Amino acid sequence: MGGPVRDTIVIGSGPAGYTAALYTARASLRPLVFCGALYVGGALMTTTEVENYPGFPAGVQGPDLMADMRAQAARFGAELVDREVVSVDLAGPVKEVTDDRGATHRARTVIVATGSGYRKLGLPREEQLAGRGVSWCATCDGFFFKGQDLAVVGGGDTALEEATFLSRYARSVTVVHRRRTLRASKVMQARAFADDKISFAYDSEVVALHGDARLSGVTLRDRPTGATRPLAVTGLFIAIGHDPRSDLFAGQLDRDASGYLRVLAPSTQTNVPGVFAAGDVVDHTYRQAVTAAGTGCAAALDAERYLASLA
Ligand code: FAD
Repeated sequence: MGGPVRDTIVIGSGPAGYTAALYTARASLRPLVFCGALYVGGALMTTTEVENYPGFPAGVQGPDLMADMRAQAARFGAELVDREVVSVDLAGPVKEVTDDRGATHRARTVIVATGSGYRKLGLPREEQLAGRGVSWCATCDGFFFKGQDLAVVGGGDTALEEATFLSRYARSVTVVHRRRTLRASKVMQARAFADDKISFAYDSEVVALHGDARLSGVTLRDRPTGATRPLAVTGLFIAIGHDPRSDLFAGQLDRDASGYLRVLAPSTQTNVPGVFAAGDVVDHTYRQAVTAAGTGCAAALDAERYLASLA
C-alpha cells in the first residue's frame, strides 16, 4: 500500500464536502477530495434557482453555486478528483480509501459527506427504463419531454417542485400520490394548484411500467378500491424521497435504522476516531445546502482538532 499518509481525505463534493475541503485546505491539511463519478457537485447540480443560500440576494443557479464552491476549495490547494470511493478501511490510526481505479489512499482523518440518493419505486423494469422515460431529476431531463404527458410520483416538496418545473415543458403533468393529502408545504401546494397543466391522482400508486425501448405508460392502482387504470404517459418522474449513501461504511460506522450515519452531535465525530461525517448522509431533519455546508465546516474543524491532538 504505497503513497504518503495524508492528513485528510474528504469523500463527497456537495456543499458539505466542498466546505470541508475549503476549511481543511485553508488549514494547510492538503485534503484529497473524492468528488464521485456520477454526482460531481452533489444534489444542487440537479436544480436551477437556489434562493435560500445566504449571500445571494438575487438567488443563484445550483450548478453555479457548486462550481464556485469547488473553485474556492481548489484555490486553497484542495486536490479534487472526480472518482468514486469503492471501499474503505477505517479501523486504526491510518485509514485506507480505495477508489474506482483500484488505487488505495491513506490518511489520518476521513470526512464522509456522501449525501443521499433518490429512492426508487422497486417496480420491475424500473432500471431498464431509467433514462428512457423514467427519471429522478426533472431539472436534468425535463427538456427532453417537451409537449408530452408526464407523471410525477410523490406528495412532498420535491414532487411538487418537479411537477411545477415540468409543466413548463409538458402538455400535462399528473401528480400520483399514495395518500389523500399532500405532505408538501402550503406554498408549494398553492403553486401547483394554480397550474392548469397539473392534475392530481390521490390515493393512487404506480404498480406497473409499460413500454419496451421507452416508457409508453403506467398502470395506476386506486388504493381504497384496488381498481387499476392505465395512464398514458411517456415520462415518469419519481420523487419519493432519499436514502443516505452510507452502504460503503456498513459494519464500520454506526448507522441509524434508516441508514443515516450517527455522529456525537453537536460534533461530527462518528464512532471511529478520526472519522467525521457531515451533510445529508447524517441529517434527515434539515436537509438544506446551508446546513450541509455548516456541518462540512464543523467536520473540517473537528478533523483539524483531532490531528492537533495526535501531535
Ligand atoms: P450532496 O449534495 O448529495 O453531495 C453528496 C456528494 O457525495 C456527491 O458529490 C456525490 O458524488 C458524492 N459521493 C457519494 N458517494 C460517493 C463515493 N462513494 N465516492 C465519492 N463521492 C461520493 N437545498 C437548499 O438549501 N436550497 C435549495 O433550493 C435546494 N434545492 C434542492 C433541489 C433539489 C432538486 C434537490 C434534490 C435538493 C435541493 N436542496 C436544496 C437540498 C440540498 O441540495 C442538499 O441538502 C445538499 O446538497 C446536501 O449536501 P451534501 O453535501 O450533504 O450532499
